[in-house]
Amino acid sequence: LTKERLDKVLAHLGLGSRKEIHKLARAGRITVDGEVITDAGFKLDPRSARIAVDGEEVFYREFFHVLLNKPAGYVTSTQDRDGPSVTHLLEMVRDDWMPVGRLDKDTEGLLLITTDGELAHRLTHPRWKVPKRYYAELAEPATQADVEAFAAGFELEGEPLQPAELTLGKDRRVELVIREGRYHQVKRMFAARGNRVVYLKRVAFGPLELPEDLELGESRYLTAEEEHALY
Ligand code: URA
Repeated sequence: LTKERLDKVLAHLGLGSRKEIHKLARAGRITVDGEVITDAGFKLDPRSARIAVDGEEVFYREFFHVLLNKPAGYVTSTQDRDGPSVTHLLEMVRDDWMPVGRLDKDTEGLLLITTDGELAHRLTHPRWKVPKRYYAELAEPATQADVEAFAAGFELEGEPLQPAELTLGKDRRVELVIREGRYHQVKRMFAARGNRVVYLKRVAFGPLELPEDLELGESRYLTAEEEHALY
């Protein structure tokens, strides 16, 4: 049986710091299976216990996953190094958020951020070839020769890439599906073709699509279906 402390469980669920939860408990605002629990060190099995704060039931989950529409100007890191971290855009403040893969500071679009390290590892491992779809605007129109070059297993600085599907759009717009995530991959692929990416946005990651109603900088939790599709 895996029993955990009440303060740890509620802090994990984002209800506050351990200290804040001790205060809630002492004030008699927490019940477990209908009983007021004033000791925040009380041990329970979070998968089966019914916890309520101020009479409102709290639902337990082991992991959290959010889908962010990343704006330019934020770095895909949990630290503010060359700019503010994408984690500042999320409502729930936690120290275990992990971005899944990387988007450049100037790249926008779909970024999955999770607390499940194993999931993050699996989705970024080259073995699984998780497809990533990008919308790009280029300096010059792409050509049918680019389509064929990328489909044939392009070599990037001597390293062979998985076949990538390039779809030509209007003017200088394209969509590109790649199956790995090398450093600056999309930009370097077009640079290798004598072109240049001037705007880049990720529109899909594996089974996840960037929702049309998710504004830049906004995030939301995955739906049950989206979550199911990842596991
Ligand atoms: N390829 C890039 O060049 N940049 C990104 O952010 C993602 C893919």
